[in-house]
Formats: sequence, C-alpha cells, structure tokens
Amino acid sequence: MTATITLIPGDGIGPEVTAAAREVVDAVGANIHWEDLDAGMSRLERTGVAVPEVVYESILRNGVALKGPMGNTFGGDFRVTRKARRANGRIEEHSYPGPTIALRGELELFANVRPIKSFAGIASRYHDIDLVIFRENSEDLYLGIERMTDQNTAEAVKRITRSGSERMARFAAEYMQRTGRERVTIGHKSNVLKLTDGLFLDACSETLASYPGITVESRVVDALCMELVLRPEHFDCLLLPNLYGDILSDLAAGLVGGLGVAPGANIGADCAVFEAVHGCAPDLAGRNVANPSSMILSAALMLRYLGQDRAARRIEAALDSVLRTGACVTPDLGGSAGTTEMTAAIVAQLDAPGTGVDSTPAP
Ligand code: ATP
Repeated sequence: MTATITLIPGDGIGPEVTAAAREVVDAVGANIHWEDLDAGMSRLERTGVAVPEVVYESILRNGVALKGPMGNTFGGDFRVTRKARRANGRIEEHSYPGPTIALRGELELFANVRPIKSFAGIASRYHDIDLVIFRENSEDLYLGIERMTDQNTAEAVKRITRSGSERMARFAAEYMQRTGRERVTIGHKSNVLKLTDGLFLDACSETLASYPGITVESRVVDALCMELVLRPEHFDCLLLPNLYGDILSDLAAGLVGGLGVAPGANIGADCAVFEAVHGCAPDLAGRNVANPSSMILSAALMLRYLGQDRAARRIEAALDSVLRTGACVTPDLGGSAGTTEMTAAIVAQLDAPGTGVDSTPAP
C-alpha cells in the first residue's frame, strides 16, 4: 500500500539533504507518495509564520513526516515571543523555542529515538558502537518558559512530570523488548537538581522495574559523558531528559563519525516525524557539501516504521557500501564529493549485492 508522507525541507542544509533522501527513497521503489510542505525560519521571514496550520493538518492526516532541520533564533531575540501567561500568580514569558521544538510540542511527539551505530567505512576512534538514545521530548527546559526578574537577571523553568517521565520510560522499555536490547542507563543530575531530575530518575526507575529482562542503571550526567568517551561499548540504551538528551546525542554522534551520520525519529500517539540529529548547519548551506547520510538513514527508519523493511535494508546496505569504498563521500568524512555526488553513488549501489549490514529496528 502506498503511504503518503509529509515532506518538509526546512532551512539551511535541509532542502539539500531532504532532496537526497527523497531521491534515494524514490530510486529504491518504496511505496511513497510525497506531500510537499513549507515550514521553518525562512518561511517565518517570508510570511510571518514558521509552521502554518496546514503543516500540522498534513502530518496528522498522513501520520508520518520526513522533516529537514529548521533554523532557530538565538539569545535575546524575542521577535517571535509566543505568549505571556499568568502561572501561579506570576507572569511567565513563553519565548518561542523555534519551529522544530514548537512542532514537537504541538504534535505531542514525546519520544525522541536516536540510534547511534558505527559504520565500518568511517574512520573513528571507536568501533562496534551500537546504542540507542531515548530522549524525553516534551518537558524540561525546552518548554521555553523564561523570564527576566530584573534587567540583569534571567531565569528559566525546568519542568518534569511523573506522568511524562513514566510515559517515556514505558516507550523505551517497549522498544527495548521489541528489539532485544537489555540494558538502559538513566542519565540525570539529581545530586543537584533533587526535585526535577530526582523525579525523572525515580519515575523512570520505578517504571522500568516492572519490565523483566531489562537491566536498569543510572549515572550522573557529567560522569556519563566521561564514561561514554572512555568506554562507549558499555552502553546499550540511554534514557535522558530533554536537554541532556540533546547534548548527549551530539556527543554520541561524534563517537561514530559525526552529525552527518546520526538519524532520528520523534514519536507520539498520533504521528511520527523522522529527522536527522543535526541542525540546519548554516555554514554549509547551499554549498553542496552537507553529508546526506543522516537524513537518508532517517528515511530508512521511516520506511521500517511503515513496514517497508526491504526498501530500508537496501538503502542502508547501499550507504554502507559507499562508506566502505570511501571514494565518494562528503568532506566531513574526509572525501571531496558533493551532497549530490554522494547521493548518486548511494543510488547506484541500491542494486548491488547485499553487504550484510545489520538493520536498525523501527522505533
Ligand atoms: P541544533 O541546535 O539545531 O541541533 P546545532 O547548533 O547543534 O543545531 P548543527 O546545525 O547541527 O548545529 O551543526 C553543527 C555543525 O556540525 C555544523 O556547523 C556543521 O559544520 C556540522 N554538520 C551538521 N550537520 C552536518 C551534515 N549533515 N554534514 C556535514 N556536517 C554537518
């Protein structure tokens, strides 16, 4: 059955890498019909709205989207402040957290899943890394609630709920059971943030305790960073609140070759949005040098989610083969190929005999 997918190119390198993913998915003969929609900071500049209603409608109607990265505003840019709300008798400034976080919030995409896997063809300090990051996607400092208490003092709200933490832990446990993973490490800073991170740690530990066959351990997040660099092979799955999940995703991507090869999925009860771990990389935009692999791997994850496993496997094998040869890869991987050349090389490998790569299960 043909699946209709909402396709959002996004900002910066987004249009280049989503075009690459689309080309590969079309070339493999997947049963996909694309519905193109425009959203992001460039749309905000042009029209005053970053994510129009029709984008939400399309994603909810189709159930699945493939999304390029979207830009953001930086420090102190309150042009797009969303709303000021009275909470507990105080005014809370809801600064606009950017279109990607807004979209995750509006669609309640509470689970962010990021598989991190070594590729034989990528020179890296580490080998045989195979871990999955589960990042809680809807709470924590990403609510975007900040305020100035006086002209020189700013504060932000870090909100963690028991129900949100339990929901995330259940999602992680069910994914682990489906995919044969056995150990999960909860990252937190409950020695300092006793209430918020303490609640996350307790709620996740209690929820996970009811899943036989899953070993649960925890680490203070700074020590976890060090250990990830010293012995990443120890880790199977990481379960993290939103902010630590963001930071550790980039760290973990660095263990296997960088942001160019790290895919991801945002999952909610009503829909799923697949996107690369990386942002819109304005330094590379429009230069045909961005590595398309993260977005192509995100598309493969999407195909698995849709039950099109064979197409996903062929895409992953073709990419693996191009990386092993190393002749046609982008500058971040030490090559000199452009985004379009690397994409064409992957397409050319789609019919090559299988390379036997292990597949990444669907979220
Ligand atoms: P965000 O906060 O939105 O995740 P970020 O600030 O972490 O974004 P990115 O846009 O992810 O920043 O990129 C960080 C750097 O990593 C870029 O400047 C770029 O040099 C490199 N990078 C990111 N994505 C790619 C890619 N697909 N190919 C090659 N290099 C990339």
